[in-house]
Amino acid sequence: MTEKELLLTALLNCKRSDLYTGGVSLDDKKEEILSSMLIRRKQGEPIQYITGFTEFMGLHFKVDNRALIPRPETEILVEQTVQLIENHFSGKDIGILDLCTGSGNIAISLAKSLENVKITASDISDRALELAKENAVINNAQGKIGFLESNLFDKLSRDRLFDIIVCNPPYLKSDELEQSPIELSFEPRIALYAGKKGILFYSEIIKQAPRFIKKDGYLIFEIGFNQLRQIKKISDASKKFVLEKVIKDYNNIDRVIFLRKVN
Ligand code: GLN
Repeated sequence: MTEKELLLTALLNCKRSDLYTGGVSLDDKKEEILSSMLIRRKQGEPIQYITGFTEFMGLHFKVDNRALIPRPETEILVEQTVQLIENHFSGKDIGILDLCTGSGNIAISLAKSLENVKITASDISDRALELAKENAVINNAQGKIGFLESNLFDKLSRDRLFDIIVCNPPYLKSDELEQSPIELSFEPRIALYAGKKGILFYSEIIKQAPRFIKKDGYLIFEIGFNQLRQIKKISDASKKFVLEKVIKDYNNIDRVIFLRKVN
């Protein structure tokens, strides 16, 4: 769909084909809303914030400035995690922690794709968590997900070990802030930027995660452009994980990594 079609179908709550078969029309009120939508778009606001939703893993997610807009690359993390569970953990009850859940896209799509999972979805932002809870209800996934407001592992019980931790943390370098496209300025900064090198969260999570993952469990990250080498170094130095798999995205960029906990 073109952007105009996206805006119109969202505004009129109709299908693309309805726009051309004459079944829908714009009254004065809707005309007014459409022109304000077009102005917002011209000012650089992401279209998903204007329509109020996005698709992720074929599911409908509400989005607004409380959380990052789910990106298509992140679907790779979800697909690969589902595959890993089907191959290595099939038939077992699996505990998953989704750190930095944001809109809840990863936790919710995992919950919809897998049978025997219990997922904890955490985020430091109470506003993001509210949105994630709304998305769990929209997608009827609330039964499998518990939500937790926590700065990484701070509020997690020390007695509970997860089979898998997934995380798409903020990973942009802080000096990219200036040259970033205008669209990014509409999204929460805390969901995007991660210190000078963009690897702040990877080092912190690799440091703390071993206490929360079972032996032979996995820490699965989405990573940023050119970060693989640095993250591998941190992981190797921890002596707790081996880098088992690296998956590239549609642009041939290393995007998702599996770290297996070895001791
Ligand atoms: N988990 C969410 C996503 O993958 C949010 C990630 C974030 O805020 N960095 O889109």
